[in-house]
Amino acid sequence: MRVLATLDGTLVDPDQPLVTADDVGLLRGDGIFETILVVNGQPRELGPHLDRLARSAAMLELPVPDRAAWERCVEAVLEAWQGGPEFALRLVYTRGRETGDGTPTGFAMAGPIAEKTLRRRETGVAAITLDRGYNPDLVARAPWLLLGSKSLSYAINMAAIRYADANGADEVIFLAPDGSVLEGPTSTVVIADGNTLRTTPPSQGILEGTTQGALFRAAEKAGWSTKVEPLRMSDLRAADGLFLASSVRKITRVHTLDGTPLADVPALHAELNALYESEY
Ligand code: PLP
Repeated sequence: MRVLATLDGTLVDPDQPLVTADDVGLLRGDGIFETILVVNGQPRELGPHLDRLARSAAMLELPVPDRAAWERCVEAVLEAWQGGPEFALRLVYTRGRETGDGTPTGFAMAGPIAEKTLRRRETGVAAITLDRGYNPDLVARAPWLLLGSKSLSYAINMAAIRYADANGADEVIFLAPDGSVLEGPTSTVVIADGNTLRTTPPSQGILEGTTQGALFRAAEKAGWSTKVEPLRMSDLRAADGLFLASSVRKITRVHTLDGTPLADVPALHAELNALYESEY
């Protein structure tokens, strides 16, 4: 099932067309989005997702998102949802019509989480590392690349996942040419070393993850230490556990990296998921 609402909170038929053919979100991927996990009617990390929507809008110089309108729109979708207890809620915000008056297009859409994603939460994934083609120092020098925004231009991210699939893997970890670890196409890289969790800083040109944020918050409360600092490829292999975090996949374990199996760590995986769940 799907539920769709426009930014003014009006529920519309998800099987009917909503945007016009000249919407630049469609023509050029010129817009931003968020994907939020909803469990038992509760959207997880809604505040951080709306904060990030505002940051992405600022990077793309889109009109400042009307937070209260987004909250009402989300509420309308949550109330209308009659599917299972867990679903994905997408917020989409584009620059609007090419021939329009500058009014952005905004809508929220709820839908089921892909079976594959749910299965991989349990089984883990095989990941390959791929070159993303830029070094972290480009972030400040080239703001037009929109590194670290959640823009709608995800064709490259999806192509990387198809490349992994064609090469016998499930997932991708992007590396910079200088060997820095960046992120997955739709996930944050997290490693566990003893009682320390580590992840790449957003200053390296990656998206700041809300799931990683929730996990680190919970871990700190439980006495773990957390580090947000540049990671190298060698850190991934040496870690006790390697994970990909995102709203819909939660904390998914990487069991194989570039064709080499990593140590099987079911207890650590269970512990991290319990920490993450303890936030809700
Ligand atoms: N990095 C990228 C590039 C993403 O697209 C996503 C989510 O889709 C994430 C990280 C994880 O973000 P979050 O945990 O907020 O879902």
